[in-house]
Amino acid sequence: MPLALLVPLYLILVLLPSALAWAQGLPPRPLADDLASGAGLVALAMTLAEFLLLGRFRAVTRRAGSDVVMRAHQVLARVALGMVVAHPFLYVSPMMPPPVWDVTRQTALNYGWAGLWPGIAAWLLLGGLVAMAIGRDASGARYEQWRLLHGLVAVAVAGLGVLHALRAGRYSADPLLGWVWIALLAVAAGALLHVYLVAPLLRWRRPWRVVSVAPAAARTWTVRLAPDFAGPVAYEAGQFAWLNLGRGVFSLDENPFSISSAPSQGRGMEFVIKELGDFTRTIGQLRPGTRAWVEGPHGHLTIKDHADAPGVALIAGGVGIAPLLGILREMAATGDPRPAVLLYGNRTEAQIVARAELERLAAGHGAEVVHVLSEPPEGWTGTTGLIDAALLRQHFAATERRDWVYVLCGPPAMLVSVGAALRGLGIPRARILSERFVYD
Ligand SMILES: Cc1cc2nc3c(=O)[nH]c(=O)nc-3n(C[C@H](O)[C@H](O)[C@H](O)COP(=O)(O)OP(=O)(O)OC[C@H]3O[C@@H](n4cnc5c(N)ncnc54)[C@H](O)[C@@H]3O)c2cc1C
Repeated sequence: MPLALLVPLYLILVLLPSALAWAQGLPPRPLADDLASGAGLVALAMTLAEFLLLGRFRAVTRRAGSDVVMRAHQVLARVALGMVVAHPFLYVSPMMPPPVWDVTRQTALNYGWAGLWPGIAAWLLLGGLVAMAIGRDASGARYEQWRLLHGLVAVAVAGLGVLHALRAGRYSADPLLGWVWIALLAVAAGALLHVYLVAPLLRWRRPWRVVSVAPAAARTWTVRLAPDFAGPVAYEAGQFAWLNLGRGVFSLDENPFSISSAPSQGRGMEFVIKELGDFTRTIGQLRPGTRAWVEGPHGHLTIKDHADAPGVALIAGGVGIAPLLGILREMAATGDPRPAVLLYGNRTEAQIVARAELERLAAGHGAEVVHVLSEPPEGWTGTTGLIDAALLRQHFAATERRDWVYVLCGPPAMLVSVGAALRGLGIPRARILSERFVYD
């Protein structure tokens, strides 16, 4: 789905209930009351739309990038929370049962307890949900447990929010809007069911097996998987997948990793995994033959949409080399004649992944590979320091490189500074692709 369609579609989805409310043409109330209702209607629609921004739907992530989708999920949740917090405080009409003749509830807010309690519960839970997301890392909770709790509370917020709208809402009392809420709730629940039930069921017929686990660099491993099913394995160089290694197909223990192999090299997949936390630190103990499940491919870090770019610049920091290795391998395997430059930054020499292969790729394909070390060993004759504006200018300032495609992967701070430096060199935003390895 084209990116230009995604934003209007989102806006239609979240504004539809308000538009239907407005179309009811109910007699006017104090402006503050209608602002309060509007905030509630938009916030509830946004909360339900959050279920589509899980970073798992390819139609969305393929264009926008899963990190951008996750960022949108986080920012929009905070916006919705702001509106939800304001919602009850904006009302100015007195809270009492309206007279029986006031069927449109103009003279008072008709909040019986049956309609009020789901709203209060959703109001409190949504605040808790956002606070839990912001404080995720500080809480020390295991990511998988956090994600399960996050999902369960989100479902409760969505269900209680819709119940509140149906029971207490002036506009949602209208049958059409009522059905729209139920349909949106069904879409939200369907999105979760798809990710955690339907998709794993389909994956069950596509098992993978660990073929080998080998050291790739300091605290970094190369994991190779082979499919145990017939049929195509489709992905594009530079994409990533959610890996479940050695668990049941429905397990929530799955982590995202970039695919470092090239699709043209065969049906197997390779990943370069750096030890970081509880799961990645156990990668070295993984045994060949272990069952694996691959959910994907996802991500937009692929040069396929940039076939018209006259050259390819790859800029990696640390384990960010993984997807770029896939792209270089694919270029070599398919005989892509375009010039390519890889700037590969690491702290120490021991952290360099696939050094010999990169040299072979440089010699065979003609790619230029530049290693950059911030803590070089004695006698290091290569580039030192960080991948900074000066180094980027040295390699990419030439006018004929302005239309190249630039693929960035590395620590968040590096992505920000390199992206800004490239834009400073006049490289169009649309030619700079980057993907973050953390959703924070
Ligand atoms: C699109 C993408 C591609 C990635 N590609 C690579 C790669 O090629 N090689 C590599 O070494 N690392 C990659 N990562 C990072 C990798 O996913 C994390 O390092 C790994 O999940 C950490 O898991 P852990 O349990 O060992 O660490 P933890 O200590 O549990 O987590 C450390 C941090 O990793 C993130 N994380 C942990 N679990 C998950 C999860 N299930 N889903 C999402 N984020 C999680 C969270 O930000 C968490 O704070 C990628 C991440 C993303 C988002």
